[in-house]
Amino acid sequence: MLSNPDAADESRPQVRPKAEGWTQPTAEDGRPLLQFKQPRVAQPKTHLADLTLSEREAKVKELGLPGFRAKQLSTHYFTHFTSDPEKMTDLPAGQRDQLVDQMMPPLLTEVRRLTTDNGDTVKFLWRLFDGALVESVLMRYPGRVTLCVSSQAGCGMNCPFCATGQNGLTRNMSTAEIVEQVVRANEVIAAGGLGGLRKDGGHNAERVTNIVFMGMGEPLANYKRVIASVRRMVDPAPEGLGMSARHITVSTVGLVPAINRLAAEGIPVTFALSLHAPDDELRDELIPVNSRWKADEAIDAAYNYYVQTGRRVSIEYALIKDMNDHAWRADLLAKKLNARGRGWVHVNPIPLNPTPGSIWTSSEPDVTDEFIDRLNAAGIPTTLRDTRGKEIDGACGQLAAEGDDEEAADGSVTPKGSSRGGTSESIDLRA
Ligand code: SAH
Repeated sequence: MLSNPDAADESRPQVRPKAEGWTQPTAEDGRPLLQFKQPRVAQPKTHLADLTLSEREAKVKELGLPGFRAKQLSTHYFTHFTSDPEKMTDLPAGQRDQLVDQMMPPLLTEVRRLTTDNGDTVKFLWRLFDGALVESVLMRYPGRVTLCVSSQAGCGMNCPFCATGQNGLTRNMSTAEIVEQVVRANEVIAAGGLGGLRKDGGHNAERVTNIVFMGMGEPLANYKRVIASVRRMVDPAPEGLGMSARHITVSTVGLVPAINRLAAEGIPVTFALSLHAPDDELRDELIPVNSRWKADEAIDAAYNYYVQTGRRVSIEYALIKDMNDHAWRADLLAKKLNARGRGWVHVNPIPLNPTPGSIWTSSEPDVTDEFIDRLNAAGIPTTLRDTRGKEIDGACGQLAAEGDDEEAADGSVTPKGSSRGGTSESIDLRA
């Protein structure tokens, strides 16, 4: 039993987090294994999106070509979303292939594309140069288009409720591999591949407007490459995609030193902490990294992010039936957040999405409502996350990058008819 004194009032059971249907790898001390370092270090060849514009110019000059070609290439990539030399008619025919070969090595091969929500949600499965698989989920909403990107192939954080962690960490994605997910999504949108135009007066964005680092991987465990990719997303064209940093959300399981570093970075991205339990007794089991940094330390780091950047932060909380959804936990969470100040945070509960082998379920609607009401009543703005893509295993925690679907000649795939999955606004791209 959890020993919170208030828990005694609760008639509801306390389910303990235990991996079901798979075995969580453990370290020598018997605790769930945490992998901070990638086992394989091979990275793809350098792509122009790995470099700043002046680095690109230097590289083009090294190839014996005029430096301004770098800007032209960058415009093709970041403005027209093309890597096809045939389309680069402003470049001399004799230089195009060499420039593309040297500056734009192929990074992502589309293996499969699944579509749901009348075409408004698309999940991509990509193969990287070394065969590693990752996913991204693209979602059209009124007023915005959100892409949930992956930052690692696999994940080393070993959270028992998330599909992505089940096979451990394969490797960090490179800066350009992260950015390329956005460029390829933009290419698909431009080709009409994301739903129809809205008829409800909503905005018809023709490119990705919002990014969430909520796909596969722990972004702050791949810190340098993730930050460089964020810079490329916000750099004005043709250096980058010219997106707004406020529309980019970095979500973490709670790597405290990296959160503090992010706060000092000077890029006003939106920050999200995957808390999932306010008490260490439960969080120790639910989020293995809690053995390093406790719930209070993670909340302090989130608060520090707000203080340093002025950006309101978000707390993610997957509601799991009889595990972390007790009313006293809503009260304890509110108390801990209010103890640090007012107006600095909002809570984003997510109904748990099923993962392979899991016997846990999402909270009952009345329990979910009470959890949210208690937080709101305590002055903490709380909104349930809209979940999308369950039927294509594209929701939070469901990304597992399995290449087992039947593939048509055109690369399109028919969903397996699985009832799992959904892509939440915050997106679930675990694999
Ligand atoms: N590693 C980062 C980003 C990836 S996950 C992080 O942990 O924040 C994006 C969000 O989905 C996280 O809040 C994560 O805890 C949540 N999540 C994972 N598995 C889930 C599941 N099965 N159902 C609902 N949300 C889940």
